[in-house]
Amino acid sequence: MLKKRLGKRSLFSGCLFLAICCWASLAMATTLNPGDFTCALCGQKFSDQILGSCSTGGRDSEFRSRYLGMSPWPYFVHTCPHCHFTNNSHKANFSEPEKKNIQKYLKEYCRKHNCSQLDLSQKYEILAHTQELRGVPPLKVADAYLKAAWMADDEKNRIAAQRFRQQAIRRFARVLEGREVKEDLLPNLTYLVGELHRRTGNFTEALQWFARVQAPQPWLAALVKQQRELAAQHNADRAGMPSHD
Ligand SMILES: [Zn+2]
Repeated sequence: MLKKRLGKRSLFSGCLFLAICCWASLAMATTLNPGDFTCALCGQKFSDQILGSCSTGGRDSEFRSRYLGMSPWPYFVHTCPHCHFTNNSHKANFSEPEKKNIQKYLKEYCRKHNCSQLDLSQKYEILAHTQELRGVPPLKVADAYLKAAWMADDEKNRIAAQRFRQQAIRRFARVLEGREVKEDLLPNLTYLVGELHRRTGNFTEALQWFARVQAPQPWLAALVKQQRELAAQHNADRAGMPSHD
């Protein structure tokens, strides 16, 4: 009887453990769904996986989210296998001149690169450049270049990562000069330009931009302090948030 009861208890414990494990893995899971697209540029239909859900677990010093489980980055962008136009949703509309400009750019891009096997960083590069050709605000273009840099980091392509960060810096700086961003985002964006300079090894510029961050919230003040010290040490490595964040 005792043995039976213990057996039931261990079965119950086992089930509870399994349920906790399942819940934890579900909470951490990146889920995908099949998706059908009509290319916004060439009108051809294609299929690609779309992101169902994902979970984040903190950010690094460039505000890059850390995702739990499988990386969702490949599923934020969708590349047409026919013309290689890359977009988040393919719901964009183009004027004829825009269309011609983008087609010309893609033709030239695919002449230089193997477009049948694009790296993820290249997909984000195409996203950024075609957004710019369409006159999308520079903040969005800068953000796409920043993501291209992160993907190039993952691909261990330092030259590309450097180039994409420089492209992002140029556009973020333009946004700040033109005051094209809400006041409450100014400190974060000013810091980010400094941090991108640090990551590209431009330590003098990094320190100058960190010094311009005005009225930061306590977490940002701590981050600026930490990154200023790294820049002063000529350290360009990826960094985490200060420990109390
Ligand atoms: Zn297409």
